[in-house]
Amino acid sequence: MLNIVLFGPPGAGKGTQSEKIISKYSLTHISTGDLFRKHLSEGTDLGKLAQKYMDEGNLVPDEVVIGMVEVKIKETGDVAGFIFDGFPRTVAQAEALDQLLESRNTPISGMVALEVEDDELRNRILERGKDSGRADDQSIDKINNRISVYKNETLPVAEFYKNQDKFYPINGVGSIDSIFENICDKIDSFK
Ligand code: AMP
Repeated sequence: MLNIVLFGPPGAGKGTQSEKIISKYSLTHISTGDLFRKHLSEGTDLGKLAQKYMDEGNLVPDEVVIGMVEVKIKETGDVAGFIFDGFPRTVAQAEALDQLLESRNTPISGMVALEVEDDELRNRILERGKDSGRADDQSIDKINNRISVYKNETLPVAEFYKNQDKFYPINGVGSIDSIFENICDKIDSFK
């Protein structure tokens, strides 16, 4: 199985690139942000709980995120592999993911990390906010908070995969297709 963690700050292009990766490698997509937005739109208890964190650009508590991913992994039958997008965002989530995959006898193959400067991220998210309807895309304070949460709480996850020799950085600035080509080169190297 090919199990990929697609990593990067908010606005790095994870959503765009994951769509292309999924269709090329036939992977099953697990985006915790998308799953929370689905719960929100359906008005579930989980969605209501997550909303106050999401609206401010803060992380939803680990046990809530891990529980949701566990359900998703367990309900998925035989697949070619998973792409995790926006997850794990803390070291505790990364440790939990290793355990969840151990129960399926299939480890993470590698983390692909999209790297983009802060100013570019802010511009991209504000631009996306014009159409996305996402409260967390529309105020510069919330965007700045998401970037600082990423630096303080999420960046250590890169170290976690570096320590396992599974960290593959990619320049996230350039055309969508050239970034995708670089991603595929990395993925093909750990298949
Ligand atoms: P995203 O679409 O990945 O930018 O996620 C949107 C929001 O959902 C984040 O700002 C968090 O509030 C929440 N969220 C998504 N994934 C996670 C995660 N793995 N851990 C904690 N919170 C998350």
